[in-house]
Amino acid sequence: MTNYRYRSNVKYKRSNNRKTIKKAYINPDRFIQKAIPIEEQPYSSEFTFAQLKLQPLIENNLINMGYSKLSPIQDQTIPAGLNGKDIVGIANTGTGKTAAFAIPMLNRLLTDRNSKALVIAPTRELAQQIEEQCRLIARGSKLDGALLIGGMPIMPQLRELKFNPQIVIGTPGRIKDHMERRSLNLGNCNLIVLDEVDRMLDMGFISDITEILNQANPIRQSFYFSATLDNRVKGIIQGFSNDPVYVSVKDTETSKNVQQDIVKYKTSSDKIDKLHNLLNSETVNKTLIFDETQRSVEKLSKELEYRGFSSDSIHGGKSQAQRQRVLKKFKNNEIKILVATDVAARGLDVVDITHVINYSTPNSYEDYVHRIGRTGRAGKTGNALTFIDSK
Ligand code: AMP
Repeated sequence: MTNYRYRSNVKYKRSNNRKTIKKAYINPDRFIQKAIPIEEQPYSSEFTFAQLKLQPLIENNLINMGYSKLSPIQDQTIPAGLNGKDIVGIANTGTGKTAAFAIPMLNRLLTDRNSKALVIAPTRELAQQIEEQCRLIARGSKLDGALLIGGMPIMPQLRELKFNPQIVIGTPGRIKDHMERRSLNLGNCNLIVLDEVDRMLDMGFISDITEILNQANPIRQSFYFSATLDNRVKGIIQGFSNDPVYVSVKDTETSKNVQQDIVKYKTSSDKIDKLHNLLNSETVNKTLIFDETQRSVEKLSKELEYRGFSSDSIHGGKSQAQRQRVLKKFKNNEIKILVATDVAARGLDVVDITHVINYSTPNSYEDYVHRIGRTGRAGKTGNALTFIDSK
């Protein structure tokens, strides 16, 4: 896979066709719930990676990545995926869903060098995480790839595409942009992955997705992954798949192993002081704070820094390079507090977040579940606190 260069001076432009999401009233009682620690139930997978008869290079890379057993979603989708079946996986981040589509996809790309794959993800961060995992799984294969995400200069992407890459990973807006420029031709793309379909639809990408799917090779294998399977998602799947295998590993509606509570405040100064005290308490370690807008996120992070906390922010107004740097610092514990907007934090794969703080209430209960799902991962108990105006 090729290397991608990142520059810091490119600002993110909002796509015109995204929906403005209205805030729903959520009864504060729904933000209060005692954590029920998850009892680890060992999953006994039907298959081992060795039994899958993968390309030796992929099998070796998986061993080097420390993948010894297939996760449930992998166990139930990879064999069918390797047999060329269309797959619909209902699974959250953290279930191993990326490898569930990346392994059969990369195996096919290595077996048949004429095959071409397109992976579409809702956010740049997720697209990058997918790209990183593909890079590891296909390490040493010399597969050519291109990462087509917004907020990055177009010229390097145009150069990547000139090499006729076997795998293209990107976000809908930028992929469509390249199609319109005729720098990306999907006519011979015979493998398509749509990750987090429900999120892409929430973000208003339906027409972009439909257009992209209409232009791909009609004879193809498709993988659809989504946290939910509502009518909109079903509509896309039914319109663009061929007798797919459905697998669901989604468990509960809300993260049961997250201790959830509210923090009441009276005024804005009371609010920030309460947050300050919270962040100072011993139990609060690595914290993801959600706020509403790019501006409020930036302001809150600066305020926390001013108050002596090691904090930074991530939002759509930052360049991709800045967002990546911040994420890396958070992952490496160089900063303990990350203030984020919903979109920027979507799909974040950081395992040791102890607290999620909703400094502003989420737009919907579904967003709330998404937010608090960033803590309490890998079998640990997490904490979620939601600030509520006592007036
Ligand atoms: P995902 O749900 O794709 O975001 O994956 C969550 C995390 O699980 C990632 O850090 C993966 O590298 C890791 N992972 C995925 N599959 C396996 C596996 N079979 N064994 C160990 N780790 C895995």
